[in-house]
Amino acid sequence: MQTAAHSTDARGSDADAVAGAGVDVAILGGGLAGLTLAMQLVQRDPGLRIAIIERRRHPVVEAAFKVGESVVEIGAHYFSHVLGLREHLDAQQIRKYGFRFFFSEGRQDIDRCSEVGVSRALPTPSWQIDRGRFENFLGERVRSLGIAFLDGAVVLGIDLAETCSSDARHRVSYECDGVATHIEARWLVDASGRSGLLKRKLGLAQPNDHDANAVWWRVQGIVDPNDWSDDPQWRGRCDPPDRWRSTNHMCGPGYWFWLIPLASGSHSLGIVCDARLHPLETMNSHAKAMDWLRAHQPKVAACIEAPAHTLQDFLFLRNFSYGCKQVFSRERWALTGEAGLFLDPFYSPGSDFIGIGNTYICELIKKDRAGEDFAPLAAIYQQLYFSFYENTLTLYQDQYPMFGSDAVMPLKVIWDYTFYWALLAPLFFADRLADLGMLARLRGEFATASALNVAMQPLLRDWAARAGDAPEAPRPMLDQVHIDWFHELNRALRDDSDDAALMQRLRGNVLLMKQLARELSGCARAGFPAIETGGIDAMSADAPQRAPMLPPHWYPAASGDQAMPPLTPIT
Ligand SMILES: Cc1cc2nc3c(=O)[nH]c(=O)nc-3n(C[C@H](O)[C@H](O)[C@H](O)COP(=O)(O)OP(=O)(O)OC[C@H]3O[C@@H](n4cnc5c(N)ncnc54)[C@H](O)[C@@H]3O)c2cc1C
Repeated sequence: MQTAAHSTDARGSDADAVAGAGVDVAILGGGLAGLTLAMQLVQRDPGLRIAIIERRRHPVVEAAFKVGESVVEIGAHYFSHVLGLREHLDAQQIRKYGFRFFFSEGRQDIDRCSEVGVSRALPTPSWQIDRGRFENFLGERVRSLGIAFLDGAVVLGIDLAETCSSDARHRVSYECDGVATHIEARWLVDASGRSGLLKRKLGLAQPNDHDANAVWWRVQGIVDPNDWSDDPQWRGRCDPPDRWRSTNHMCGPGYWFWLIPLASGSHSLGIVCDARLHPLETMNSHAKAMDWLRAHQPKVAACIEAPAHTLQDFLFLRNFSYGCKQVFSRERWALTGEAGLFLDPFYSPGSDFIGIGNTYICELIKKDRAGEDFAPLAAIYQQLYFSFYENTLTLYQDQYPMFGSDAVMPLKVIWDYTFYWALLAPLFFADRLADLGMLARLRGEFATASALNVAMQPLLRDWAARAGDAPEAPRPMLDQVHIDWFHELNRALRDDSDDAALMQRLRGNVLLMKQLARELSGCARAGFPAIETGGIDAMSADAPQRAPMLPPHWYPAASGDQAMPPLTPIT
């Protein structure tokens, strides 16, 4: 691990190097978004001179550091393949055992609650990230790449260049070790997270209509869900029996609770709720959060109260979700990570949006370096980035009331994942997210997928409300591994396809979405004939008929037998 003395020396020589000559890119904030952007930029263009100004001094603490520890497929691919950090992830972080959801409001008998997850890991990997450990590693890595990483340095002010002319420079003043200084940069990227330095200066904040709060804390030791039952059959559902490596979601009406293991030997725990249903004031201290947990998730509360699980920190955040009016500018500035926008942690999209935003910023800087006009591209990439944000927001907005529905929420998880793996994820994996020709040819597929999703979300919400709160009778594990097409969607993310094969695969994925939409809406209507299906039937009419997409036990018993798909299950 880096010593403080080494850090000070490195900082001093970095500061001297950039003070006089200026840099091509100044990055404000060296957290996850800023450090990874710097790496990606220099990997693509080793000649770029980059400075990162980071308030915190490195090395930072492990475990009780920042929130944002569970990574899903796009973010995982960004770190492992785009940045080439697979070795660190495998050796120093925890390989994730997928998502796992228990519908366990008020329950002690978790082994009799519906469980959605995988019994074996799906082929495309993801990881649980100890953020302190990761940012220390990234800090050292960027230095080894010749990037000036000024830790312990606080940005005091920004003067944006007044023109777009080629010799215009932005100026950033900062303070380090009590000395105020400044640097000049052709490009400025705000990666300052929730400080939102540039966003505040330019008045770019844009609230959204998703009002949710979160509280979280870390405890020493690993919390193993397998300890919640003595039933050997339940414990043996997974091979290996490693539920603890999953991001475990304990779900109830209006909220979910996360358990994420950290490689440094701690466990991250957090409650996320719809502000209207669970006010922050009922959980904004550790004592209150534990009271809340005893009422809503008594089994988990009892488990983490064990003396071995010493409390390491406690934090909370009100109204964490927000948009942004602009993230890329022709005036050579950009916003990345939480300095721009943030959705919701339910499916862990934070690192995905860092990977996507950083990739677009790299493209813009590359074009500018080549002496080309990048302004039209900035506008298009921003439009795309906002459309991904808006589409993803629909998965969360107004949906928290149904989070406790063990009847319908498992179906929503499958739907939401299918939406994610159908277009956005494969395009990112195939490095085509900036390929405007490919995106133009896929415009129809994007429009269809988006329209289906916009119709599906209220249908799921309404279905859950009609199905009511009565818990399902115990049923077999809702195992994603045994849904053949779902497994294949995950596996195919890593396929190396030429343009024609990729187009064909993505068109096939949209057909899958249509088939699933038709099946879900048919089942909802069979249980509740008056339910509004929002035009899904018309939108999915041209999809070929196929055997049921989901085995019968995935469907709510409360809908009656007629709601079950009529054909044999796919296992
Ligand atoms: C409750 C919750 C749960 C989440 N869970 C997940 C998850 O499971 N998975 C996931 O992928 N994402 C998750 N996220 C999102 C994740 O936390 C963010 O995507 C990620 O931390 C953003 O990284 P960043 O680099 O933009 O911001 P940060 O990591 O906050 O980095 C910003 C940096 O800027 C520095 N800085 C600020 N002001 C100044 C200044 N004036 N001068 C110099 N430096 C400055 C800070 O010190 C900091 O290091 C979650 C978010 C929330 C709110």
